[in-house]
Amino acid sequence: MKTVIIGGVAGGLSAASQIKREDQSAQVIVLEKSGDVSYAACGMPYNLYYKDKPVEDLYALGLEDIRNERGIDYRLHHEVLSIDPARKKVTVFDRERSQEYREKYDYLVYATGNQPNRLPLPGFDDADIFYFKTLDDTRLVKKVIYEKAPSTVILVGSGYTNLELVDVLYNMKITPVILEKAASILPSIAEEIRVKVLEKLKEKGITLHTAIDIIEKKGTVVRTTTGDFEGGMVVVSIGVKPNTAIFSAAGGELGVGGAVKVDRFLRTNLPDVFAAGDCAEHYVRQLGKNGYMPLGPTANKQGRLVGSNIVNNTAMKEFYGIDQTAVFKFFDLTVATTGLSERQIQEIGTPYVKVFVDTPTRGAFPGGGTMRILLLFEKGTGLLLGGQMIGQDVVAKRLDVLATVIYKQMTVFELAEIDLSYSPLYAPVWDPLLIAANKAIKEV
Ligand SMILES: Cc1cc2nc3c(=O)[nH]c(=O)nc-3n(C[C@H](O)[C@H](O)[C@H](O)COP(=O)(O)OP(=O)(O)OC[C@H]3O[C@@H](n4cnc5c(N)ncnc54)[C@H](O)[C@@H]3O)c2cc1C
Repeated sequence: MKTVIIGGVAGGLSAASQIKREDQSAQVIVLEKSGDVSYAACGMPYNLYYKDKPVEDLYALGLEDIRNERGIDYRLHHEVLSIDPARKKVTVFDRERSQEYREKYDYLVYATGNQPNRLPLPGFDDADIFYFKTLDDTRLVKKVIYEKAPSTVILVGSGYTNLELVDVLYNMKITPVILEKAASILPSIAEEIRVKVLEKLKEKGITLHTAIDIIEKKGTVVRTTTGDFEGGMVVVSIGVKPNTAIFSAAGGELGVGGAVKVDRFLRTNLPDVFAAGDCAEHYVRQLGKNGYMPLGPTANKQGRLVGSNIVNNTAMKEFYGIDQTAVFKFFDLTVATTGLSERQIQEIGTPYVKVFVDTPTRGAFPGGGTMRILLLFEKGTGLLLGGQMIGQDVVAKRLDVLATVIYKQMTVFELAEIDLSYSPLYAPVWDPLLIAANKAIKEV
């Protein structure tokens, strides 16, 4: 059995590794167009702090380990140009040798990720517009930061990757200026949580302009409807678009958000072609349908399942789906969410109640902070629909308790009964989650 995999990062390498884990004799070829093996993009913003720490430190595995220990034929600088689903082969361009060749497959895994949206405005196709999506992008941004030492960086877009950059740049004594087209930042985060992010921006004296329309970039100046902004560097992060060109050119069907349409087994409409990760749709369990939320753990899990389904193709398993859990750091705050957002609940029309509490994160022990927990639950039953948190200290792992509650479809009554650990080093005697649940119970 021969599997060809297009894209060699989280989705692609996970699929490749799983196939070899389950069937040593399988032939697996990974075709990766960049010069980098699978890496942790999530660590890229923080690599900027370290001038001498190579970005290659973010590699998940070395090329030789992938080839020798995992037995995967991993080919760097190999770009797939097209897919011929009828003849089950792909056309590949070997960028190093400048040679084109064809590779046959029994199974094909499409794991091409996504790409940043571009701003179709004058001056924004300049070589000095930066993105922050790949290791090559990080190399470029790092070079400018350390070689040109810009005093101000203009960040277009206020999603989580740009907010992580704001944090990093500020700590590097570079002034970030955020320009956002929408009326507000972080649309999937509830107002009660978002306000704390805005307060932090204010506390740090960081300029954020919302509801702004960019007109053009001229030299180092970004001209907007709200005025001109000068910066030694411009980083654009205004959303992503799944890489689907060669898939759709081969007759592949697209779905939510323009991502590759997949069934619960992660099969596409093309015969023996599976998809995983940021290029594909993601099944949202609470909605009972596919959505699009490109994140690292999902790419890993989908890739692994695809690998397993290829080996066990007569007993395939369904992808169990996501609960939309996500977290990011913003200065001393952690911002985290799981389950449905308030907007999604309103869209599906479930009657709901929202409560929030502000509590200390620890007992009588130094180093603690405060946090805000917001719970969204069904009116009448108390079924937990969503949860969001923001605060210092022990936030992310508390969010994971809520993710578990949502996974098991538990109510706020059950949340209030969970036997959470206590020591003043980690929690007050009433854990913030229990305080929030007890408040929620009164409102069901
Ligand atoms: C700055 C940043 C921070 C992030 N932080 C987090 C985080 O904290 N938590 C989290 O969960 N997620 C985070 N993510 C998202 C996470 O990194 C992605 O979800 C994950 O990398 C997706 O893996 P993937 O394999 O689907 O796609 P990708 O990582 O995009 O890999 C796809 C690969 O396919 C290759 N490719 C594309 N087309 C072709 C072709 N035609 N031929 C050959 N190769 C091709 C590309 O070169 C690429 O290497 C972050 C992402 C970024 C950019």
